[in-house]
Amino acid sequence: MDGKQWHEEAQAITIDGRAVINGERVAACSGEQFDNISPIDGRTLGTTARCGLADVDAAVAAARAAFEDRRWAGQAPAQRKRTMIKFADAIMAHKDELALLETLDMGKPIKYSRSVDVPAAANCIRWYGEAIDKIYDEIAPTGDDSLAMITREPVGVVAAIVPWNYPMIMAAWKIAPALAAGNSVVLKPSEKSPLTALRLAEIALEAGIPPGVFNVVPGYGHEAGAALALHMDVDCIGFTGSTKVGKQIMQMAGQSNLKRAWTELGGKSANIVCADCPDIDAAVSAAIGAIYFNQGESCNAPSRLFVEESIKDAFMEKALPMMARYAPGDPLDEATIMGAIVDATQMKTVMGYIEQGKQAGARLLFGGAAARIDTGGFYVAPTLFDQVDSSMTIASEEIFGPVLSVLSFTDIDDAVRQANGTPYGLQAAVWTRDISKAIQTARALRAGTVHVNQYDGDDITVPFGGYKQSGNGRDKSLHAFDKYTELKTTWIQIG
Ligand code: NAD
Repeated sequence: MDGKQWHEEAQAITIDGRAVINGERVAACSGEQFDNISPIDGRTLGTTARCGLADVDAAVAAARAAFEDRRWAGQAPAQRKRTMIKFADAIMAHKDELALLETLDMGKPIKYSRSVDVPAAANCIRWYGEAIDKIYDEIAPTGDDSLAMITREPVGVVAAIVPWNYPMIMAAWKIAPALAAGNSVVLKPSEKSPLTALRLAEIALEAGIPPGVFNVVPGYGHEAGAALALHMDVDCIGFTGSTKVGKQIMQMAGQSNLKRAWTELGGKSANIVCADCPDIDAAVSAAIGAIYFNQGESCNAPSRLFVEESIKDAFMEKALPMMARYAPGDPLDEATIMGAIVDATQMKTVMGYIEQGKQAGARLLFGGAAARIDTGGFYVAPTLFDQVDSSMTIASEEIFGPVLSVLSFTDIDDAVRQANGTPYGLQAAVWTRDISKAIQTARALRAGTVHVNQYDGDDITVPFGGYKQSGNGRDKSLHAFDKYTELKTTWIQIG
């Protein structure tokens, strides 16, 4: 489809912002709703249910009932697998519709909603479905007179609270392992991007996931989100979002029933390019491509670029001509690779950081301004600051927008010290042809993932998560099952 056709589809699409509880589409108990604004042009797409305590109570009760009567947990893993695969297939069958909703709701280019977000969400659901009937339990080596079985059981009712930057993928990373393991789930999408989560719940029902097993309560964080985090009958919470709210989630878990609280939080990832980098062109494209992908709204965006002093000028000479490619365009045009910022608030935050960078004396080499203002949407030009110092706010706080800070170094140990010098520890990268230096640097970097001579390594088979205040636990890979299962030991006396 071309841009014009996507716009026509966008005008025609029906938006249903009601919650999905116990297999039914329902309005919030209070009848309250809020407007769903598209960042593409500021237009109101429709309204979304403003769920609160009563709706969360109803969703948790439905999830609990479904868990207790074992309509899902009691199915053989091979049966759950078949349903999860059907669910994944159905997502792909709705690819265009879901991609359009995602783009309209959060502003990312349709090119990527179609080619990245929808397939990645489907793949995640398929992968955990396929995995679940291949995982064995254990017998402990206790001796002849007893048998100690170590089994994994679903934790029960899982609440998933997710952000707006990859709405479908973030939801899939939580719901796929949780559902595959036999839990019931209540998902709260971000108030800024609830639409695809609601459709996912309907598609899951059509695919055969029983009512009550997967519920979605849209609403604000301090209302629906807090009600879930404080709920006495939620067994586990899988949270992805900011470090600030992650801390509140852990407090609410402690304040209520000590539910297991898993957090995937912010980042300020460092990308270190040494003078002996094996391929400067690849390093330049990765540095630029990875920070501006998704409008810079990625937790793992390499927002701090450390370039060794001796190659800095050559590096920048190659980097600067690439910047214009990332000028924001119409997200519904398939040629666009940088879309809109999710909303006016986030745009104001990003512009505030740009202003701080200028005030602090960083050298603005590209961008630094709003774009496409006449559309009524929210767009920021790709922005690059040089001569940044680690003490500057733009180099220490997560901006979550298309802003790159370039720093230089002469000593790799100093670069690593600076790279580690934030509260975050999500991802990092080092570019060098020296294998020993690569391994030593990777070991020294305090981050959940370290890339060597690339930045786009990403697969459902590998864990994703952070050190320090980037969170705990891991999404993706078989390790995610650890979050959504309890280990049970059953001791049996023999003879
Ligand atoms: P956010 O913390 O503001 O909100 C995340 C979710 O929490 C939303 O659903 C929100 O409604 C809810 N929420 C807000 N306040 C709440 C409260 N008091 N109680 C319960 N729930 C509450 O984050 P955001 O702006 O939506 O997302 C951006 C952040 O997410 C960035 O910091 C980014 O780095 C992070 N993120 C991390 C990962 C990761 O895997 N580590 C992935 C994507 C995004």
